[in-house]
Formats: sequence, structure tokens, C-alpha cells
Amino acid sequence: MLKKLFYILKPFIPRKLQLYLRRKLIISKLAKYKDIWPILKGSEKKPDYFNGWPEGKQFALVLTHDVEHKKGYERVSKLMDLEKNLGFVSSFNFVPERDYRVEPEMLRTISNNGFEYGVQGLYHDGKLFSSEQEFLRRAEKINSYLKEWNTKGFRAPAMHHNLDWIGALNIDYDMSTFDTDPFEPQPDGVGTVFPFWVDNKRHSSGGYIELPYTLPQDFTPFVLLKESTPDIWIKKLDWLAAHNAMVLVNVHPDYIDFESTGKNYEEFDVNIYIDFLKYVKSKYEGKYWNALPSQIAAYWKSIIKP
Ligand SMILES: [Zn+2]
Repeated sequence: MLKKLFYILKPFIPRKLQLYLRRKLIISKLAKYKDIWPILKGSEKKPDYFNGWPEGKQFALVLTHDVEHKKGYERVSKLMDLEKNLGFVSSFNFVPERDYRVEPEMLRTISNNGFEYGVQGLYHDGKLFSSEQEFLRRAEKINSYLKEWNTKGFRAPAMHHNLDWIGALNIDYDMSTFDTDPFEPQPDGVGTVFPFWVDNKRHSSGGYIELPYTLPQDFTPFVLLKESTPDIWIKKLDWLAAHNAMVLVNVHPDYIDFESTGKNYEEFDVNIYIDFLKYVKSKYEGKYWNALPSQIAAYWKSIIKP
């Protein structure tokens, strides 16, 4: 009830107060959700057809980024360099029509570095899934961006999702879901820490691979709850690794305080992310498959439809 009211009133509440209320709401729910977040028991069950990751790797690691505004767009290269220097690759999801323009040069640079990009919604106005008709209307434009940018990856803004409708997109993979996250606006998780196949009910092209995120969204622990270490990620990472699962995280360049100034209440210190990557590297050297979403999707398709 409270949550519903919050989202109705949201446009009229000042940003700082919004975050304060969301923080209070989350803290009040932590005990209630302790058995379903950040770990949902049972979600680690392996699909029958899954016999492990390529080259005998213990787990898969997928780093993804949603680029929200111009501020985030301008930080893409910085974030990519940071990951590259630590020996990782990742994927960036751009909104086609918002307050920044996605330049062909940017897409080229990302590909040339061995990274990847995908399409994040269309306008980011919260209305993509308002009706099936509206979704299909927008799907045409999204499909033209997928084609123009030469990518087959998609994520919906705010993790809104309707997997049947998403089948209208010309994609190999979608990343608009999560294993468990009661703090999302559309909180129904998919209950698994592995990819899965979604049959395309409307089109003859077959279907696509769904890649749920399996580490908490950066915004919840580091901006709203103001945690100053990557502990919550590390604990879940260890659990996912122990179950040979897919570690998929969504880190927003818009929310990263690259200079560690601590001045912006909507940003978290870059060292949280760096410490997380360093932990993965030192504890699991040689044991993880740091793959691009398209590689995970291709691999999953190969084992599910041999
Ligand atoms: Zn977004």
C-alpha cells in the first residue's frame, strides 16, 4: 500500500526526500525479506541440461552497465578503461532517445575494445509496458535501433518486463529480469540464478535467452542504504560461485563517484566497484568465465538446443 502510494506521489516529491523515504522503506523491510533477498533459497537449483561452463570454469561473470543520462554517457570510456586495466570486459546499455545522443564512434570504440553494447528501452519514460499495443508500437522503433547499432541485446528501463511481449524484439538476449529483488518497482523475480530460454510466442524467429541479474542493483545498497564496502556483492558472489551460477551485475556509470569526493548523495565511491573486481580477481583467478552477454546467450542456446 505504502509503496503504491509512494509511486503515485513520486513526481511531486523532491528527489532528496524521495531517496530518504525509499531508504526508510527498505530498512523497514530488510528483516521481512531476509529469506528472499539478496539470496533466494532454491534459486541455485541447476537446470537438468546444464553440465557446466566452457573450459570447466566454476562460474560465469557478466558485468553490465545501464547508461541513464548524459552524465553516465560521458563516463563510459572511463569505466571501460577501469575494467580493461583490471582485465575485465563488460556491456553497456544505451537509451536510444533521451538526453544524450549515442554516437557511432562510441559504439565502435566499445566493440574495438572487445566490449559490447545493447539497447535500453526507447525513451525511458516508464511507459514502455503500459499496454501491449504501446509496446508493439515502440518495438518497431527499438528493432530499428537494434539493427542500426548492430546489436541483439536488450534491457528494459527500470527492469519492467513482460517476456511474451519482449519476444517481438529481434534479439538474442534480454536482461530485464532478476533472480530476486523485492525492492524493484515490478518486484516479480524469475527465481533462478541461471540463464533460461524464452519461447517466442508471437514470431517465428524462435525465441531468446533471458539473463537475469543476480547481484543486487548498485543503487539499493550503495546509494539508498549507504553501505561503504562491496560486502553484499561479495557474499552473494561467493554463494553464486559455490553453486556454479551466473554472476550478473548491473553497475550504473551515472551513480559512480569516480573522484571519491563523497559530495553527491546519488553516487557511490568508485572504490566499492574496484574492490569488488579485485576480490573476484584475487580469490577466483582462472576459475571464472568473464563473458559478454552475447557469449553467455550463444553458449546457453548451444546447450539447450544442441
Ligand atoms: Zn535505466
